[in-house]
Amino acid sequence: MLHQSITVAGVEVFPLCDAVGPMGDAIRRPMSQMFPGGRHGEPDEWIMHFHCYLLRDASGRTVLVDTGIGPRDSPAASWAPVPGALDAELARVGTAPGEVDAVVITHLHSDHASGAVVAGSPVFGNARHVLQRAEIDAADEAVLDRVVRPLGERVHAVDGGAEVLPGVRVLLTPGHTPGHQVVQVGDLVLTGDVVLHPVQLEDPRVPYLYDADPELAAATRVELLDRVRAEGGTIGTAHFAEPFTRLV
Ligand SMILES: [Zn+2]
Ligand SMILES: [Zn+2]
Repeated sequence: MLHQSITVAGVEVFPLCDAVGPMGDAIRRPMSQMFPGGRHGEPDEWIMHFHCYLLRDASGRTVLVDTGIGPRDSPAASWAPVPGALDAELARVGTAPGEVDAVVITHLHSDHASGAVVAGSPVFGNARHVLQRAEIDAADEAVLDRVVRPLGERVHAVDGGAEVLPGVRVLLTPGHTPGHQVVQVGDLVLTGDVVLHPVQLEDPRVPYLYDADPELAAATRVELLDRVRAEGGTIGTAHFAEPFTRLV
């Protein structure tokens, strides 16, 4: 699905739609269980989008935020509509994988990290890969073997806030995973899985079944959304149907 780019603080932000589909049976539950306490309408089905984002600044430097669900044999295959279309989406916005300067992986779940290494080789060979150290420390051996170790020296581990490009920052936002991070540019925040579904905009305290630490995730979500809303800013989400939501 084609989504339009926006420009914030001199950086053009392209939503890349890696996939669209319902969550697979392996982990799908009724919405009332996935988002307990949320106000759910009809139909009671969540058609997930899987968005990555490409940021391109005025001098042409690029940052890819998240790497999607990956190829047909991805670990996301049990629940996400593999293969992802990230490579075609990148081509559509005029960027080859080798031209990406930096990759930010919001967290190491299989729908965000599986496009970084394919068949054992880094896909974005010239990019440094920004991850929170807390996320790497919490990763299991399978994820380390599949994603982190093959990236080798391309891994750029950070602790908390860090600048990726001038004006493009990552911020530590733990809860969904221990080392989850978001990306801020101007008044836009790319929220990864801090916010999964619009019911959590209505009530940010609504947890998500697959948050690692639901209480911390809720506290992080409330704090982040309050801040963006106070600034009249915009969020760019991973799993909403529309990538951008202006908070007012
Ligand atoms: Zn996740
Ligand atoms: Zn996700």
